[in-house]
Order: sequence, then C-alpha cells, then structure tokens
Amino acid sequence: MAIQRPKGTQDHLPSGSPKLSLDTRAAAFEYVRDTARRVLERAGAQRIDTPLFEEAELVKRGVGGSTDIVRKEMFTVYYFGDHGGYVLRPEGTAGIVRAYLQGGWKQLPAPLKVWLHGPMFRAENVQKGRLRQFHQVDYEVFGSTDPLVDAEAIALLVEVVRELGLKQVKVKLGSIGDPEDREAYNAYLRELFTPHLERLSDDSKDRLTRNPMRILDSKSEGDQQLIAELGVRPMLEFLGEDAAAHFAQVQRYLTDWGVPYDLDPSIVRGLDYYRRTAWELHHEGVGAKSALCGGGRYDGLAEQLGGQAVPGIGWAFGIERLLLAMEADGVELPVSSGPQLYLVALDEENVPLAAKTALEARAYARAEFAYRAMKPGSAFKDAERRRAVWVGLIGSDEAAQGTVSLKHMETGEQKVVPVGELAAFLQKSDD
Ligand code: AMP
Repeated sequence: MAIQRPKGTQDHLPSGSPKLSLDTRAAAFEYVRDTARRVLERAGAQRIDTPLFEEAELVKRGVGGSTDIVRKEMFTVYYFGDHGGYVLRPEGTAGIVRAYLQGGWKQLPAPLKVWLHGPMFRAENVQKGRLRQFHQVDYEVFGSTDPLVDAEAIALLVEVVRELGLKQVKVKLGSIGDPEDREAYNAYLRELFTPHLERLSDDSKDRLTRNPMRILDSKSEGDQQLIAELGVRPMLEFLGEDAAAHFAQVQRYLTDWGVPYDLDPSIVRGLDYYRRTAWELHHEGVGAKSALCGGGRYDGLAEQLGGQAVPGIGWAFGIERLLLAMEADGVELPVSSGPQLYLVALDEENVPLAAKTALEARAYARAEFAYRAMKPGSAFKDAERRRAVWVGLIGSDEAAQGTVSLKHMETGEQKVVPVGELAAFLQKSDD
C-alpha cells in the first residue's frame, strides 16, 4: 500500500476532490483566514508569524508544566540524532510573547494588536475535532489592562464567527480574578476536596497539591460527579474589589455593543499568569465539551518567561473545529468560478498560440488554456467541467485573422473578438 499521512493529520484538498468535507477543503481554510484577516485588520491588528518550533522550556513555562499539553502531548524535535530541546508549538501565545520581548515591541504604540494563523501540534488522542496537527487563528493585544481591550477582543471574535455565517454560537464568560483572589479560591478548594482525596482521579490528586483550580477543568467523569455533589462555589464569588469592577466594566461594554454572552462560573484557567477575564466560544453542533475558541487575559506571562512585565490578552480558535461548526450550521462557502477565459486550440499547431494568448490575458483576467487541441464539442465539455465563464476557440481562421471565437458557457452568446480587444470585451461582459 502507498504511504499514508500520519494519524491525526489532514490534507487540505482542492475543490471537487472525492471524499471532500468542509474541514478538509483547502478553499474553506482560505475563506476562514480571509474573513479573520478582514475583521482583525480592520480593527488595526497586524499579521505576524513565529517559528513552528520553539525551545521546550518556553512552551513549558508558557503553557504550564502541570497541563496535559506539556505532560503528555508535546512533539519533541530531534535532528541529526541529537536532542535539540525544541518542541513543535502546541499553541501560539507563548511564541508570540517571546517574540514581543525579543523584538522590543514595547516601543510600539500600545495597545499593540497582532494576529497570526498557522499549524499547531499536540500528540492527542485523535477523534472528531481533535487532531495532532490543527490550525489556529490567534489574536493578541499587548500593553493595556483597560477592560475596553477585553471587551473589544471578545467582540472581534464574535464578529469573525458571525461573518462566517455561524448561528448557534455562545460566548461563555468568566473572570478568574487577581492572583490573591485565586489564592483564596485555591485554599477554599483544598479544604473542600482534601476529605474526598480518595475519590479524585490520579491527575486531580496531583492538581490538589499543585493547582486545585484545575480539578474543575478535569475531563474525568468521577471528578465531575464529585464537583457536582460538593456544590463547589464559583470563582466569581471570590473576586476582589478591583477584579470585580474590571469584570463588571467588560460586561457593560459587551451589553452596550450588543455582543451576547452568558456568564459561566465554570470557566477556569489554572495557570499563575492568567488574570481576570477568561472566556470560551461554544457551538451546539460541535458538542458541549469542545470549545471552538478559548481566550483570556495573561498579564503575568511575560514575567514568567523571564521578560519585563507587559499585560496581554488574546484568543485562539481552531479552524477545523470552526469548519465543523459551519458544516453543522449548513453554511455554504461562496462558490468561486473557474477561469473567466478558457482558450482551446482546434488543431495541434495552434496550441502554442492559445497558450500565449492566455498568458497575455492574465494581465486582466483569470485565463487558462488547454494543453492539447480539441474539437469544439470536446472543448465545450472540458470548459464546462472547469466551470469556465467564456471558452475561446482558436483554429486556423482565427490564427490567420488574429481573433478568438468566444462562447459564453451559460448564456450561449457567441462572438468573434480580435485578440487586441479581448481585455475590453471581457471587462464589459463582467459588468
Ligand atoms: P486551547 O489552546 O486548548 O485553548 O485551544 C484553542 C482552540 O484550538 C480550541 O478551542 C480548538 O478550537 C482548537 N484546538 C485545540 N486543540 C485542538 C486539537 N487537538 N484539534 C483541533 N483543534 C484543536
């Protein structure tokens, strides 16, 4: 059998491929990226890129040593048999904050908005919507703790998914407060769970000492049952005065702008550097457990990476999961047509002339040509398969007179046009 692609990866296929679904269609990825680009760049975000692999230490500190990602899902990069200490990036934020610090972006006007898209890698248990190579769109803002920035980030996310035609989406919004609020909450959780230690999963036993908040995020059913039984109080009840005022302000802006959200006290971000606003975007068609997007404020991260402190906030959505949601919502992509002009020679000696005419026509139109001669009947069939708007035939008469015999594939309109007037003709017929 021919070599297969690695488990948990997908090819992005040309339109019309057999076995095509929205989340494997290359044009669909382009459509999502273009839509995100339009919305984010309109709001002043600049497109950036960072390497696909980074120092393992960066990811460990940036994502958190106690997370599943760092403990179980990292792809280590080896080269020449040597262990390089690098890993494939599992998410975008750590690399972007590193680039901020390394590139001296602090000197740029704040708040600084950037965005990125590209592949991310996690050695996950593969299932629907959970891949080992997936693709994210990432939006990050640096240099401001203003609640306006938080609200704008959420509003932009909602605008992207709305422009993509998604309907059944919900923003679940929470706040995890300031570090001292979280400390108080963790102390409360420790006291609450310690008497039930033996009922917790092994992972959660470990979390109880390292980071009790992450127990609430546990994927274990037993843990979730215990959480429900104990009637755990939400983090929101532990917010200090400043964090509570900040959160109230974020909500006020969202309400004022008509951005819908639901308060969700179960949103937790267990890592030290997360502060205040945190949210997820959910969709009914993709299932309650898998968020389309996660976002939050991470004012302590730059320091955690050994740099100067700078407040930051951001979100990332997985393009594949978004496409699954679009499929569930029955969203159809705008159909891109084939070439505006498809030139076919009627005899072998005129194939180079058809090619040359097409090459020249590319200055003003999407133009293709047939690489072999065809009879008119086959030329029309071929043009139809390629969804051409106009087919242009070049036989010995046309070659002698410097013309092309055009036929509109939909209306059947026919016209003989001198090559020199092709541009004007196509433009006129486009209007
Ligand atoms: P996270 O960094 O885990 O908050 O993930 C942010 C978003 O990336 C999620 O909401 C998903 O849309 C997407 N995502 C994360 N992990 C995967 C995966 N293994 N496969 C596909 N999409 C993913």
